Amino acid sequence: MSLAPAGRFAPSPSADLHIGNLRTAVLAWLFARSTGRRFLLRVEDLDDRTFADVGARQVEDLSAIGLTWDGQVEWQTTHRVRYDAIIDQLAADGRLYECYCSRKDIAAAPRAPHAPQGAYPGTCRELTDAERDERRAETGRPPALRLRTDTFVGTVTDLLHGSYTGIVDDFVVRRGDGVAAYNLAVVVDDADAGIDQVVRGDDLLSSSPRQAYLARLLGYPVPTYAHVPLVLNADGARLAKRDGAVTLAEIGVDRALHQISASLGWPALDLDGMLRRFDPVDLPRNPWIYQPV
Ligand code: GLU
Repeated sequence: MSLAPAGRFAPSPSADLHIGNLRTAVLAWLFARSTGRRFLLRVEDLDDRTFADVGARQVEDLSAIGLTWDGQVEWQTTHRVRYDAIIDQLAADGRLYECYCSRKDIAAAPRAPHAPQGAYPGTCRELTDAERDERRAETGRPPALRLRTDTFVGTVTDLLHGSYTGIVDDFVVRRGDGVAAYNLAVVVDDADAGIDQVVRGDDLLSSSPRQAYLARLLGYPVPTYAHVPLVLNADGARLAKRDGAVTLAEIGVDRALHQISASLGWPALDLDGMLRRFDPVDLPRNPWIYQPV
């Protein structure tokens, strides 16, 4: 069965959504609805630093500003069997290897001659069985699983950034604690739900070549990407809770919507008004500097 095309918003419930996250959610909704797509909501709660009550509040806030989505909200922690099946399949195809490196080990390791800065240096890629046993005994912790890729870089096409080339290294698909890694979970869930349009903050642009690589490897279509500018505070730093007056509880629905509308160059419009005017070509390409009012 092929699913009707869809866009989505996929927050991590580590903290309440701030006005920048709400703006990204509105943009994801506008991109999806203006192109006749379904719109899905997925809470990315795999990480230990995420909280169910925060996730529930994120869903409430998105609903409070008037966003509508199709079907139930998906929670990634309910998808573990799905991720494990894909990880098992990759392992059976010989595409995974165990990695015992800590962040510190990775930073200290010499880089292969062609490997770009920031790429996994390949330390555990060719360990013999004996070396692997030794590393396991030394570190005393269970290994992560990395994907054995056959390239260093990949290119994606982004509606706002054009052609973007970034690192495709041997990235982690299952963390040492046994939990599916972000890059794997996103790719598997997007494909499973028929999501063919990924709109999110441009801090994730650099992850998209890895995700597109994995999608291709698993035989999934690569979605259309639109990485939208982040929101900064008056000092030019990423907006954070401590900036004050950034959450919906602090700002209120009407003011939040008006600020989002103004940030997109419009008068105070409601969501339907924004939808009537939305054209990705007119989107501001620079970060939005948020001034609490
Ligand atoms: N959960 C991620 C975040 O909140 C976004 C994932 C995605 O959109 O691919 O940063």
